[in-house]
Amino acid sequence: MENLAVFRFYDSLNDFLSSPNKDTQINYRFSGNPAIKDAIEALGIPHTEVDSILVNGSFVNFFHKLANEDVVQVYPLSNITNRTSQSLTPTLHSPVRFIADVPAGKLAKKLRMFGFDTAYQNNFTDEEVVEIAERENRIVLTRDIGLLKHKKIKWGYWLRSQHADEQLAEVAARYHLSKNINPLARCIICNGEIVPVNKKDIIEHVPPKTVELFKEFYQCTGCKKVYWKGSHYEHMLETIERLKL
Ligand SMILES: [Zn+2]
Repeated sequence: MENLAVFRFYDSLNDFLSSPNKDTQINYRFSGNPAIKDAIEALGIPHTEVDSILVNGSFVNFFHKLANEDVVQVYPLSNITNRTSQSLTPTLHSPVRFIADVPAGKLAKKLRMFGFDTAYQNNFTDEEVVEIAERENRIVLTRDIGLLKHKKIKWGYWLRSQHADEQLAEVAARYHLSKNINPLARCIICNGEIVPVNKKDIIEHVPPKTVELFKEFYQCTGCKKVYWKGSHYEHMLETIERLKL
């Protein structure tokens, strides 16, 4: 026998719905008693974007069995400080750490530039992204909605924009990054930690003019790349200003 439940998704969850389903009641037909998480994902919304669920006026968890005539309201996780006491998203570890899938490589480099620990390789498979995210408690950043539906992913964010600067602004808003921006903390190339170094220790690895012009130098503890507050640093400050981070 076919059952019918009525769903209503709020605010940013409408980003995942097609026009006729946005900001309105959706009739959902189903058989048996599926977990409500499966029904929500079948309607197009990955669990990582859901904060809380009400069924017939009571909060439920993702394993709640959907029944005929249920009235379901689903609320988004708009940002991490807005987690409700009924939130289904586990508390984030601090400091936040990210992992970006292959198409989000430009964003990964920008996050590192601003000092955020972001795992990324241009040959990551989806399985590796899931495995590393789970093992290292990382937030998955992707434009692949299907990837965010993977059951092992606890934290994830669907990047709305296709442009890295706008994606950076989205992620900064969602995870309140602006207060923790720390330039010259992470290596853009390898995500290693960057530490201050003595000029004499890096003199051979830097153009003579740069050695003359700059006093402070930094080095990646991973790949040994040397950094200084040159044009790259200026560009970063300009981006912070422009994006109002
Ligand atoms: Zn490095």
